[in-house]
Amino acid sequence: MIVVGAGIVGLAHALAAVRAGARVTVVDRDARANGASIRNFGFITVTGQERGRVWNLARRSAGIWRDVAPAAGIRIEQQGLLVVGQRPEAAPVLDGFMATEMGEGCRRLTASALGDLCPQAHAPAGAIFSPHDLRVESREALPRLAAWLAAAHGVRFRFGSAVVGVETGRVALANGETLSGDAIFVCPGDDWASLFPAVYAEEAITRCKLQMLRLAAPGWRLPAPVMSDLSLVRYLGYAALPEAAALKARLATEAAEALGWGIHLIVVQSADGSLVVGDSHEYGPTPDPFGRADIDAAMLRQYEAVLGAAPAVTERWTGTYASAAGHSIVRAPMAGVHLVVVTSGTGASTGFALAEDVVNGVFGKGEPI
Ligand SMILES: Cc1cc2nc3c(=O)[nH]c(=O)nc-3n(C[C@H](O)[C@H](O)[C@H](O)COP(=O)(O)OP(=O)(O)OC[C@H]3O[C@@H](n4cnc5c(N)ncnc54)[C@H](O)[C@@H]3O)c2cc1C
Repeated sequence: MIVVGAGIVGLAHALAAVRAGARVTVVDRDARANGASIRNFGFITVTGQERGRVWNLARRSAGIWRDVAPAAGIRIEQQGLLVVGQRPEAAPVLDGFMATEMGEGCRRLTASALGDLCPQAHAPAGAIFSPHDLRVESREALPRLAAWLAAAHGVRFRFGSAVVGVETGRVALANGETLSGDAIFVCPGDDWASLFPAVYAEEAITRCKLQMLRLAAPGWRLPAPVMSDLSLVRYLGYAALPEAAALKARLATEAAEALGWGIHLIVVQSADGSLVVGDSHEYGPTPDPFGRADIDAAMLRQYEAVLGAAPAVTERWTGTYASAAGHSIVRAPMAGVHLVVVTSGTGASTGFALAEDVVNGVFGKGEPI
């Protein structure tokens, strides 16, 4: 089998394929993965994902990460999630979430219990602590995952090879070579100009640009990654609950600037204590690559409202992912060719299980999706 793209979605297909008994070659045009999959938080988010299929994909994917990480030498940097409620209107959203099946295993914390767990957090409406989520350092995890797939499963990698054409059973490389495979999984992330542009046009796909910051180690450790009120109106697992209406209305006036830039707060911590803070969301077919200082400042204000004075910014970067309505695009544009694109910014959280479904469908082991 041939996989085009060595981001998390491509590597997830490679893993599912070798587990199904296939010999796999992964082709990527870059010398190493350099797209969304190494620019993200590495936050495998289960809690807050859209209820139903996406939440289930995330739960299964988190299980696969837990299984693969020790074998591949990938450190789990953090476990769990702390979703804090800053405004009174957040409390019913947190309570409403706990009352659903998605709250299973989670704990609802009062403000005082939150203070015991995370003294830095300012959140009068308390919090939810979920044990379901985990975090890896993506810029290290992706190369390790690729190296492990090669060493333990014999996956061959062709980095630095752009794929310029795909047809049933064959992939054409820019250097004139052709690779043959019984099945071809095309996982090109947000590049829709090169392969199957007509499919993307039908799906009305665009790009989403995100700004990210790394802050110096603050001298304390977070008990888990942190999200806050703005996440409660962005992540559909909370935002689709009827209890979210009052919080949405309040934030629409109080946090219009942040909402306008699609900002919500995620704070995760690395092994060296540094914090990764984001993110913003701007949409367009070719977003500019420039990080805006005013967006960074707005994200830091969100940080400071929850966790106090922000340490110095040590890194800034932007990333883009493919964006369209719905969780993902899974299409077979020709026999034996499968195009798989996560269009909801959740590839690290859901990619492993999505790939398992796609590959098992091809092998006749599951329902085709
Ligand atoms: C800043 C940021 C933060 C995010 N945070 C999170 C998070 O915390 N949790 C989460 O679940 N998701 C998060 N996401 C979303 C997640 O990172 C993406 O959904 C996921 O990485 C998409 O993976 P991918 O493999 O499809 O794309 P990519 O990682 O972009 O990989 C696609 C690969 O395909 C290759 N390619 C494309 N076309 C060709 C071709 N013609 N020939 C050869 N190679 C080709 C590219 O070189 C690239 O390496 C975030 C995204 C960003 C940008």
